[in-house]
Amino acid sequence: MTQTEPDDPFAEIRSAVARLCDQFPAFYWRQLDRDSAYPTAFVQALTQAGYLAALIPEEFGGAGLSLSAAAAILEEVQRAGANGAACHAQMYIMGSLLRHGSEAQKKQYLPQIASGALRLQAFGVTEPGSGTDTTSITTFAEKRGDQYVVNGQKVWTSRAEHSDLMLLLARTTPKDKVAKRTDGLSVFIVDMKKALVGGMTIRPIRTMMNHSTTEVFFDNVHVPTENLIGEEGKGFRYILSGMNAERILIAAECIGDAKWFIKKATDYANERRVFGRPIGQNQGVQFPIARAYAQMRAAELMVKHAASLFESGRDCGAEANMAKMLAAEASWAAAEACVQTHGGFGFAEEYDIERKFREARLYQVAPISTNLILSHLAEHVLGLPRSY
Ligand SMILES: Cc1cc2nc3c(=O)[nH]c(=O)nc-3n(C[C@H](O)[C@H](O)[C@H](O)COP(=O)(O)OP(=O)(O)OC[C@H]3O[C@@H](n4cnc5c(N)ncnc54)[C@H](O)[C@@H]3O)c2cc1C
Repeated sequence: MTQTEPDDPFAEIRSAVARLCDQFPAFYWRQLDRDSAYPTAFVQALTQAGYLAALIPEEFGGAGLSLSAAAAILEEVQRAGANGAACHAQMYIMGSLLRHGSEAQKKQYLPQIASGALRLQAFGVTEPGSGTDTTSITTFAEKRGDQYVVNGQKVWTSRAEHSDLMLLLARTTPKDKVAKRTDGLSVFIVDMKKALVGGMTIRPIRTMMNHSTTEVFFDNVHVPTENLIGEEGKGFRYILSGMNAERILIAAECIGDAKWFIKKATDYANERRVFGRPIGQNQGVQFPIARAYAQMRAAELMVKHAASLFESGRDCGAEANMAKMLAAEASWAAAEACVQTHGGFGFAEEYDIERKFREARLYQVAPISTNLILSHLAEHVLGLPRSY
């Protein structure tokens, strides 16, 4: 399989990331998966190497790299069999702060995030009662003097136990009192250490893969007004503006996963001999792997296209969403082909396939499910009636 394009501008970054990931071999991830533990050492190594600050501008201590470079980093992490979900949000959550925060907020937080002194990797948007329907969230931040008092609940707040700061979306005006349902939502930076002694509770949710996800309860949590990002009531737009980067980066991770599965499947199909010949000599074994490869390469083009639109400041909503959908489907096709190629051994923990298989499945659901991408395309690209 082609490992890198001959003219890949990120070849050096890719091999440096691959070398870093080599220090965290399969048994490291296997053990964490068994224990549902957080990959602290891996995240520290990525932070120290500056990769998680890839998108933070140099003036704030980051690497000031392009979205394509950040995508290459995350793709390589997944391709090495590691799991960037433990920290990928650190790359893109800060985008809301960078684009909409005040100069004082940027100076206060971004250099510390870049150095690793502070981790901003918890993103509190989803709630149990509203699910995908974000404008129906009910967590409320009521302004009282120089504080907002937050009450409510978030769910699926990943990495909350491993983050110093949370980017929180809350209502500041009830939905029935705003002209547009997207109005009246605000974004805050929550200092989690302070909140934990001031009414915030985090409860881990055990999931089918090791993801450090949680539910978070707010009981009269005080957040200073200076922690409001941008203008009160405009938070939905701020969150949306970060979503294209998130979609593109996660799509790149899916491409990395697909490459990992395809390599594993191909190697095994060449090695494993049954009926006196390699199983890969059978077209019934070859074709699903070849099809997954074609799907992955097509999705990879869409990821690159979406990233280049993003970098040139053009609208890339449809492309970012398509990239994420196609890449998640390609990684799932590759995962499926990999398990099937390995037969019974695909289910054995020591082959790592079942672990990656569980991890890869997430990306057809989060950060946005395939149905919602299709309805976005139907409405905003094809001009079909809004379905919800
Ligand atoms: C492991 C994990 C980690 C996550 N991490 C985070 C995080 O860090 N921060 C965060 O804020 N969120 C996070 N999420 C939430 C995730 O991004 C989804 O937004 C969320 O799971 C969707 O809500 P729901 O599960 O209640 O699904 P629902 O909204 O109940 O949807 C259920 C199903 O119905 C479908 N559906 C719903 N409405 C429609 C419609 N109108 N048309 C067609 N189909 C529809 C959906 O596509 C989905 O398949 C995470 C989720 C998971 C599972």
